[in-house]
Amino acid sequence: MRRQPENAAPPDADTRRAVAPVICYLTDRLPSPDPAKIAALRRGLRPAGGVIVPPRDARVVAVRAGQVLRITCPEGPQVGDLNLWSAASLEERFYSGKTRALHGAHVSTGDRLWSGFPRLRPMATITHDTLDWYGLDAFGGAVHDVIGTRCDPYTNRLLSGGDYHHCCHSNLTRALADHTGLPIKEAEPLVHDVLNVFMCTGFSRDTDQYFMKASPVRQGDFLELYAEIDLLAGLSACPGGDCGAEHSSDSAACYPLGMELFDVSDECRAEWTSPGPSGYDRTHGR
Ligand SMILES: [Zn+2]
Repeated sequence: MRRQPENAAPPDADTRRAVAPVICYLTDRLPSPDPAKIAALRRGLRPAGGVIVPPRDARVVAVRAGQVLRITCPEGPQVGDLNLWSAASLEERFYSGKTRALHGAHVSTGDRLWSGFPRLRPMATITHDTLDWYGLDAFGGAVHDVIGTRCDPYTNRLLSGGDYHHCCHSNLTRALADHTGLPIKEAEPLVHDVLNVFMCTGFSRDTDQYFMKASPVRQGDFLELYAEIDLLAGLSACPGGDCGAEHSSDSAACYPLGMELFDVSDECRAEWTSPGPSGYDRTHGR
């Protein structure tokens, strides 16, 4: 939040502000998926099971490399908080900050969801987004952000003084513990910053604060991901519902979310190569 400045602007303030920005990461050298290959892949999808995520709760599913995970809105407007782990090693997990730096604050079809250091590889590629029409609204809001961190009982306690046990952080912790058999205190540190599926967010122009607004998602919408490596995917149906008013409480109307799995045709599968870890030698100058 911007405070009133204590210092007078220098004489060349306007000149300094007028410097044109430079995009931090030029993504034209990123390995990006061929739209024709994505289209071919989607034509051959065969249903392979899935789960319903109950409101104010979470579920974890295993998604094999080469499968598609479709996150659906089967009933009413509902936001989901997504975590991804490598099934081979839960310490390799989704890195929302670097995904944001590479692709932007909101992601859609063709963007990748990257894992953290030292691997830094695409864990999944977004193959379809029924909300891609939304774009950037007049408030600077857009959907599917990699800005927010997930609602959690610690921040809730800090700001409200109360304890609430169905924040996305807690929901994902319980779901990961249930799926893996890990004790709850070992599962918790593996939960990480999320992709906010269907959530509509941005930064307020006047105060530069993170905002949310009622999601434009409707029954039948979905976001679809192609698993580049073997994954565990955790999804929480946020207690904020469509996140149009508040979260971290039982006051919002909440609906379930779907996690549907699909196999792709053998020909399409053969055309995709699972990405290896970063080639950096990790010597860091020593
Ligand atoms: Zn939440």
